[in-house]
Amino acid sequence: MRKFYLLAVIILAALGVAYFVWFRQAVDPIAPLAPRFEEVPAFVPDKDTRYLKVPDKSTFGEFMTEQGVAPGVTAEIYQAALSSYDLAVIKPGRRIDLKYQEQNLVKLIYDIDDWKQVVVELLAGKWSAHKQDIDYVIEKKLARGTVASSLYEAGLEVGLDEGLIIELAEAFGSTIDFSMEVQSGDAFKVLYEGRSRDGQVAKPGRVLAAEFVNGGKAYQLYLWTNKDGKDGYYDEEGRASLKRFLRAPVAFRYISSGYTNNARYVGGQYQRFTANHLAIDYAATHGTPIRAVGDGRVSFAGWKNGYGNVVTIRHDSTYSTTYGHMSKILVKSGQSVSQSETIGKVGSTGFSTGPHVHFEMIKNGVKINPLQEVQPPSEPLAQEEIAEFNKARDSYRELMK
Ligand SMILES: [Zn+2]
Repeated sequence: MRKFYLLAVIILAALGVAYFVWFRQAVDPIAPLAPRFEEVPAFVPDKDTRYLKVPDKSTFGEFMTEQGVAPGVTAEIYQAALSSYDLAVIKPGRRIDLKYQEQNLVKLIYDIDDWKQVVVELLAGKWSAHKQDIDYVIEKKLARGTVASSLYEAGLEVGLDEGLIIELAEAFGSTIDFSMEVQSGDAFKVLYEGRSRDGQVAKPGRVLAAEFVNGGKAYQLYLWTNKDGKDGYYDEEGRASLKRFLRAPVAFRYISSGYTNNARYVGGQYQRFTANHLAIDYAATHGTPIRAVGDGRVSFAGWKNGYGNVVTIRHDSTYSTTYGHMSKILVKSGQSVSQSETIGKVGSTGFSTGPHVHFEMIKNGVKINPLQEVQPPSEPLAQEEIAEFNKARDSYRELMK
């Protein structure tokens, strides 16, 4: 009987060790963290301002008439705004504020998009206009999660805005192909600008820093405004995170929603890189834009048997890329193209059984797997700004702990 107990204890201990060795990683993902505002500042409305929205099916003239503005004043405002913005194209649902002084209209503010607004104001008896950034209250927010099927779903699950997930994926566009390379258990952290306006949470601003752990390897990026005033993402060493080539010829926004990774490729008509298929097929809806993965010159644009409508771009003396089965070609042979530029539309021309991009990368005349090609790192930031960058990076890192 004693022996039996001893045996049981040994077996249980062995099972325990096995559990930790085999399953610990799987059952211990990073705790998901949904972003939260500490406190959204309250809104104190200005009593002389009418906070309005452009109504459905309303022209600028109709809207102003409805607000009791005289046609002559409306025309003056329209003319004054024209150098900054054409108010004839205002969109239903957008915010438009009218500010009064002793019952006279003195200012109009219209939101052009989620970032900019046009201000038309009466100054010394004359209407004048300018554009400005919308004034948000910004708070740094952190979200993190673990991917079960796709970055898109995992992001939504922790409460990230769809646009922010897309921005995050594009910032890693040369590092990870989120439709092909994401594995269950991959994890992400993202630090970004949470924004509020007039007491309400608004769409988020920019991604400030992010980390993505893909197959156990961690990649980071940090937002940095370089010495020429240009915003961009840089890795730990201050090298531009967008390299020579993007991983995918179709932007994340077109292949993300509603799909789980792998589902469309395994066992289906679309193929990964194999000995018989020296390319990668990206399934996307007919008409989806196809983008150049890197700068270069179009060396072929036209019809080729099997490929249907096809474009080949020569990037340099070493690399070229080919994009097949297009429904429409949007470039001409000899033309220069830049990274991300739309070169055609997804179709099913040539030997193809459904709309997709057949994407090939050719290195020194040999077709290679673009997902396995190690790209040369980008140039690091200039020596005189690297110290400042490192400081910013470290403070972001601190906030992402
Ligand atoms: Zn193919």
